[in-house]
Amino acid sequence: MKVAVFSAHKFEKDYLLEAAKGRHELSMFEPSLTATTAALANDYEAVCIFVNDDASAEVLQKLSSNGVKYLALRSAGFNHVDLKTAGKLGIKVARVPDYSPYAVAEHTVALMLALNRKLLKAHNRIRDLNFSLDGLTGFDLNGKTVGIIGTGKIGKLVAQIMRGFNCKVLVFDIYQDTSWATDTGVVYQDLDYVCEHSDIISLHTPLNEHTQYIINRERINKMKKNVMIINTSRGGLINTKDIILGLKDGQIGYLGLDVYEEEKGLFFEDHSNDILQDDVIARLMTFPNVLITSHQAFLTDTALQNIAETTMGNLTCFEKNIECKNELIDKSA
Ligand code: NAD
Repeated sequence: MKVAVFSAHKFEKDYLLEAAKGRHELSMFEPSLTATTAALANDYEAVCIFVNDDASAEVLQKLSSNGVKYLALRSAGFNHVDLKTAGKLGIKVARVPDYSPYAVAEHTVALMLALNRKLLKAHNRIRDLNFSLDGLTGFDLNGKTVGIIGTGKIGKLVAQIMRGFNCKVLVFDIYQDTSWATDTGVVYQDLDYVCEHSDIISLHTPLNEHTQYIINRERINKMKKNVMIINTSRGGLINTKDIILGLKDGQIGYLGLDVYEEEKGLFFEDHSNDILQDDVIARLMTFPNVLITSHQAFLTDTALQNIAETTMGNLTCFEKNIECKNELIDKSA
């Protein structure tokens, strides 16, 4: 079928075209999907989108009136899609639930290690022929307590990796996998206990009305002094203004972000010739103990191949009207 691919990035185009061969005809559009760009999908049966595209009610209505019947997400998260409206309009939606939890878990740990051992500072110094060690002291991970919020596919892998560093691992989830916890040697506790007793806290829940701003001023104030917070999940889990206050008063010792609540329109793009308009991320970037990556935790060759394969497979299921195990259906409808 004819598929309009929005937010088509250079890093993924070849993987998508390869997976579509003999199955689907892809048109690559660099702009993200918005109420304005929805018109590009005129006469396409399917639209394929990424994490920062807008699939709100208004946009879905435009797509539907343009003849779009299918929406294929190149992501696991679907907080950017109004599933209720999609259901009402008869637009079928599918996602890629698990293209590589390893990729995201490994990037999460990369952020922890780079922050702790001040790798960027060290690298920049060496390039300046400054071989001194002052100011580069880290801490042993061995014996430290790591708190994992959300023990789904990614959270579980991070927990297992950190057990390999001989860390004590505390976990919180609304559903407890007790046999996994026993086998892995991790301990389920309530959210506040995990936040208050951990040296490193890593977030791995989806973004929804229960998890928005799960990290806020009140909770930050109860954390251990000098805590490390890592977020590779969704920006909205953290109240960024509160986290800046925590960084300013030294309560937060390290912050690693792969996602940011206002990342839409900023991340994934080259803005090197623009004036930065976002004062919040500008402030975050001034802290020496903050490391930000631009939503790249998923970015491995394995993940890109899996995303492309599953996305094209989802569209084939829709086209042939066979059951699609990755279809998203609004349960409240
Ligand atoms: P998953 O569905 O396997 O696990 C999510 C876990 O969160 C589940 O165990 C669920 O029970 C738990 N959860 C849900 N609501 C909760 C709540 N209110 N409190 C505590 N726990 C709760 O998902 P996953 O594959 O592990 O992915 C986790 C998140 O990572 C995704 O939602 C997505 O936002 C993010 N992600 C980011 C990237 C990236 O490149 N940065 C890539 C993939 C996924």
